[in-house]
Amino acid sequence: MGTRGFVGIKRKGKIGGKYNHYDSYYSRLGKEVVDVYFKNKFLPYLEEKDEEYDENAEFLYDGLFCEYAYVYDEDNDRLEIYRGFFNKPQVFSKGHIGNEEELYTHLIFIVDKKIHSKKDVLKAFEENEKANDDSFKEGTKPEQYPERKVINICDYCFKIIPVGKMYCSKECERNAMVREI
Ligand SMILES: [Zn+2]
Repeated sequence: MGTRGFVGIKRKGKIGGKYNHYDSYYSRLGKEVVDVYFKNKFLPYLEEKDEEYDENAEFLYDGLFCEYAYVYDEDNDRLEIYRGFFNKPQVFSKGHIGNEEELYTHLIFIVDKKIHSKKDVLKAFEENEKANDDSFKEGTKPEQYPERKVINICDYCFKIIPVGKMYCSKECERNAMVREI
């Protein structure tokens, strides 16, 4: 069985894209997408992909089956990295419909080639692989983002921020606390 995922594009805030059936994890599809992103060849890459284009990106929000997703933010020339299988919704999550145990896709980190190198991204991928080896086996993946030790975003508003902080501002920290309650 393949590791399913999604490769898409965000235009004016709206995401559309294509389903990917096999090897969607970081070390395979992730590396491939990062490579075309840094070569400015994401658009032809997505076009060539042999799946139907879904303008509503439904599979992206299916946190049970969509294990990894890569979305090119065309307006900002950035690459967004997502993972599924989270127990709690994130701000943008729609969750999986028709499943007792709802699982969600989260935005993990955002790559900006004006700030980050390809090496940074691969290092962020490795942090995830190191952290999740055991929890995958147990089926209890923790609600955390080890990738953010290398490339960090605000946990509330998703702005790119320096490593080590959780929020970009006091305001985001307060908003996040309200959200928890
Ligand atoms: Zn923020």
